[in-house]
Amino acid sequence: MPLNRRFTLARRPHGVLTPDDFKLVEEPTAPLQDGEFLLKNIYASLDPAMRGWLDDVPSYLPPVALGDPVRAATLGKVVETRNAEFPVGSWASGFNGIELYSRAMPGFTHPIDPEALPAITNYLSVTGGAGLAAYFGLLDIGLPEAGNTVLVTAAAGAVGSVVGQIAKMRQCRVVGIAGGPEKCARIVEKYGFDAAIDYRGKSEQELAAAIREAAPGGIDVHFENVGGAVLDAALMCLAPKARVVLCGLISEYNTEPVGARNLFQLIVQGARMEGVIVTQFYHRIPEAAATLSTWLREGRLRIDEHIEFGIENALPALLRLFDGSNNGKMILQLAEA
Ligand code: NDP
Repeated sequence: MPLNRRFTLARRPHGVLTPDDFKLVEEPTAPLQDGEFLLKNIYASLDPAMRGWLDDVPSYLPPVALGDPVRAATLGKVVETRNAEFPVGSWASGFNGIELYSRAMPGFTHPIDPEALPAITNYLSVTGGAGLAAYFGLLDIGLPEAGNTVLVTAAAGAVGSVVGQIAKMRQCRVVGIAGGPEKCARIVEKYGFDAAIDYRGKSEQELAAAIREAAPGGIDVHFENVGGAVLDAALMCLAPKARVVLCGLISEYNTEPVGARNLFQLIVQGARMEGVIVTQFYHRIPEAAATLSTWLREGRLRIDEHIEFGIENALPALLRLFDGSNNGKMILQLAEA
């Protein structure tokens, strides 16, 4: 069996992730049991949610155990097999870990067709958790109607960029909030947003004023990826009967929870706020993935992917999600394809 390299959790992190929280270990891969196959991970998806999986708190997935590789969606090639449905040389994707080789099983990992999407990494972006959260969160929870105004936070990112583009397909006016002039220009010029707001350097009140200026009639659908003061500013700008989709609260992943302080606005506007989690829509993933793939192939959906290289860069790459220096869906390439 080949020698493995694994990016493992050494201790429970406090606040921003540090090198002491992890250990890169080398060890032989364990022999396969019946039904298992050995996946050589070529790409690993780096997601903000991974920060939460490292904490020992109740969640939709158990916490990563100390000493285990950091959990990640990966895609790779089968190099050894004891499962006829996963022959050597075939591609597969699923929940594994940041490691060169994963002993995988059907159920958690499924076969993929490397030719079906423009780039194989699109399985981690467009039809991965980010694209699916955008699709279900906007369409099933946000319920956008033609003529609605949709506000999206972390709008230049993997989720936000897809939300904005789907909202445009639904004939909505779309306003995005992002960090810095470059990302603001990108969401308008590349993803077709109608307006962009740079939140950096703005107080909550200044941000709320900028939202009101971009959306004088109020926000019908608010798609929240950030939380904290950004969410509070958005809550002050809701239209009557608004739908607030809680997809993520990245500004609070390295701190104590901040909490939304302007919830009274939900009462004032008769609005509602609802969380989205992709697992809730498990049975509809094939439908959503097929639609997203079609849009991508037809050029109606654009996606940026930010690929970093090498397992030794797992931590710096992960940290980019939290300082905003990623430009698109963050992916770590672990080996040559
Ligand atoms: P992105 O590609 O959007 O990258 C993260 C971005 O978040 C950064 O680039 C940065 O953008 C922004 N950000 C980071 N820290 C802060 C902060 N303190 N304040 C404001 N903005 C910040 O990541 P994803 O698209 O993968 O994820 C976006 C959100 O969606 C996350 O909250 C994530 O947890 C959530 N998510 C939820 C899913 C679900 O099923 N519910 C599935 C997938 C993701 P900028 O430079 O603009 O500040």
